[in-house]
Amino acid sequence: MRTKLIAGNWKMHGSKPFIESLMKGMTEQLDASLESDVLVCPPTIYIPFVESLIGDHKIALGGQNLSEQAQGAYTGEVSGDMLKDNGCQYVIVGHSERRSLYGEMDVLVAHKVGKAIESELTPILCVGETLEQREKGTTMQVVQQQLDAVIDALGIDALQQVVVAYEPVWAIGTGVTASPEQAQEVHSAIRAHLRDKNAQIAEEIKILYGGSMKAANAEELLAQPDIDGGLIGGASLKADEFIAICKIAG
Ligand code: PEP
Repeated sequence: MRTKLIAGNWKMHGSKPFIESLMKGMTEQLDASLESDVLVCPPTIYIPFVESLIGDHKIALGGQNLSEQAQGAYTGEVSGDMLKDNGCQYVIVGHSERRSLYGEMDVLVAHKVGKAIESELTPILCVGETLEQREKGTTMQVVQQQLDAVIDALGIDALQQVVVAYEPVWAIGTGVTASPEQAQEVHSAIRAHLRDKNAQIAEEIKILYGGSMKAANAEELLAQPDIDGGLIGGASLKADEFIAICKIAG
C-alpha cells in the first residue's frame, strides 16, 4: 500500500506575512490523524522560516531545486546538504520550468537526483510532455526518456529513493487539467515501464500527478489506482484549497 503524498510547490511566491498566514491556516486545520504525507516546498530563502512555523506539526519541508555540485565556488547555488541541514526531507528535481526556462537537460537532472540521494533527500523527479509532444503521440517516449536518463546514470535501484511526478507541461499553471483517464494512462504506463526493470520498485514507487490540481478535481484524480498524490502549484498558495486536497487524499 503506497501512502499518498500531497506536495505544495510554492514556486517564487510569498513574503513573510503571506507565509505566516498560509502556514497558520495549515497548522490549525490539518488534522494530525491524516494518513497522507503533506509537504511544502517554499522558496529556498524562506525554508528556515517555514521550518519554525511548522513546529511539531506533521508537515514535511522540501526544496524546489538543488545544485548538481556538492560544494564549492558555485555562486548562487544551494546544495542538497544545505537543504538537509535546514530541515528538508525532499527536493523537487527537473520541474518543467527548470527544464524549459533554465535549460536543464535530462543528464543534469539525473545528476541532481543523484546529489539529492547522496544528501539523504527524497528527490521528486518531474517528468512530462509538452502539448506538441502529446499531439504528435510521443508522450510515453518523452516520459520514458526522462526516466531512463536517471536509471542509466544511477541504476534502477536508485528509484527506491525517488518519487516521480508526472506533470504534463500543458497542464501546469494553465487551469487545464489532464482528465483522470489521461493521467491514469500515463501513470500506469510509467509503472509498466519500471516493472520491466524491477517489479518491486514499480509497485512501491510513488507517482504523483501535477498540473492544475485543485480541490474540485482532486477526488477523481486521486481515486485512480496509479496516482499516489499530487504536486500542486497554484492551489498550494491557498490554505483552504490545499487543506481540502489533503483531506480528500485522506
Ligand atoms: C507545478 O508547478 O508543479 C504545478 C503542478 O503547478 P499548477 O498546480 O499551478 O499547475
